[in-house]
Amino acid sequence: MKREKPNFIIVGSGISGPSLALFLKRAGYGVRLMESYSRPAEDIGGALQISPNGMKVIRELGLTSEMLEIGTVSDEMIFRNHTGRILAMIPNGSVSQFGESAIVVSRARFHLMLLEAAEKEGIPTEYGKKFSHAEFPLDGGVIAKFEDGSSVEADFLIGADGNHSKVRNFLFPNFPKPEYTGILNAGGFVPSEVIPEKYSKRGPIHFVFGPEGFFGFAACGNTADTSWMWWSNIPSEKELTREEMDSMSNEFWRNKILEIHKGWHDPVERIIQASPVILKGNVHDLRSLPKWGNDKVLLTGDAAHVMSPHTGQGASMALEDSHTLFLLLERANSVPEAFRDFETIRRPRVERIIEESRRNGNRKKKLSPIGCWIRDVFLTLALPSFAKKGQDWMYRYEGIK
Ligand SMILES: Cc1cc2nc3c(=O)[nH]c(=O)nc-3n(C[C@H](O)[C@H](O)[C@H](O)COP(=O)(O)OP(=O)(O)OC[C@H]3O[C@@H](n4cnc5c(N)ncnc54)[C@H](O)[C@@H]3O)c2cc1C
Repeated sequence: MKREKPNFIIVGSGISGPSLALFLKRAGYGVRLMESYSRPAEDIGGALQISPNGMKVIRELGLTSEMLEIGTVSDEMIFRNHTGRILAMIPNGSVSQFGESAIVVSRARFHLMLLEAAEKEGIPTEYGKKFSHAEFPLDGGVIAKFEDGSSVEADFLIGADGNHSKVRNFLFPNFPKPEYTGILNAGGFVPSEVIPEKYSKRGPIHFVFGPEGFFGFAACGNTADTSWMWWSNIPSEKELTREEMDSMSNEFWRNKILEIHKGWHDPVERIIQASPVILKGNVHDLRSLPKWGNDKVLLTGDAAHVMSPHTGQGASMALEDSHTLFLLLERANSVPEAFRDFETIRRPRVERIIEESRRNGNRKKKLSPIGCWIRDVFLTLALPSFAKKGQDWMYRYEGIK
């Protein structure tokens, strides 16, 4: 854009918010982050995979070495059934193929790394600012209003406020909401002593399918005393309410998960037993939001497209969004034009991943013994070529043409 560069308020300082803020600030736009948490959140969430497409954006941000310091390079995916029988072993992308490795990292450390980078660039971040609504003055711009009664004015507003986006609800109160997918998620971290020698190589992500549910684990750091992350997907018709989640003790939840994974191959049960804190949540997705914004406001990341975690792409899509939007802003004649192009370019890719994630999630639902046998045969025969095809398009990201 040729004229003086406009300024942006970004609501939400998770993954999408600070990564976009970094691109915009470096390109000379005015930018300010407004976050509902009262402080930088150091302890939220489990672990994530940032796949090669997301790592391309991390390289554009100049944060590759910081990322390698906090995460584990993941070069392989090993699939087993609950008895421990290997169903398939597949490379998790490769630098020669995609230009970057996949990295497994704790969400909290990854998030802090982005916040620190934003702070170093002098990007103002205000905490304790919960977006409530926006006003659009007749003479231009947008005023974001917060629940504490404060407000901030800018030329444009970005809703990067995640799965339960308030900006989305304000803009499109009648649009579809994120839908529960029939799966509960649990997870946590354990120290490396818990992992038996046989599995102790850092690099592979282990995926275990059983008669009911699914379990995964992987190293999540690059030192000998690194922690290991794990997660469990539990089929459940009923979504947990906030009250149920708050009232469930760690031990109650641990026992529930142990029941599902009882008798699964070592070290599944011992990981669950050793995990000091067990995270819990409902798995949602939002298959297609009819619109992602207007001339003044744009949704990015999970606010625009909620995907279930079964392709491990949510954070990478948030990063791609930030990079694509920045490139489009630099190319377009106006910000509204860049907003429209953003939706046109990003929608087909993210909606394809949302569908793929749903399909992967459906393979984790309860099965009869014969159903398990069919699934195991199918995975053994088909997974290598399915995974290769999936990686070919998912792990490739080239910005805009
Ligand atoms: C169980 C699970 C496992 C996952 N595994 C993976 C994985 O392996 N790989 C992967 O790439 N992705 C994974 N994801 C998805 C990933 O965590 C998200 O897609 C990613 O964090 C999206 O980034 P975001 O910035 O859009 O939203 P978020 O990271 O959710 O950030 C939104 C921010 O907005 C703030 N906010 C919310 N409401 C308001 C408000 N009203 N006002 C101001 N601020 C507000 C929040 O506090 C938060 O800081 C997983 C998700 C889940 C649930």
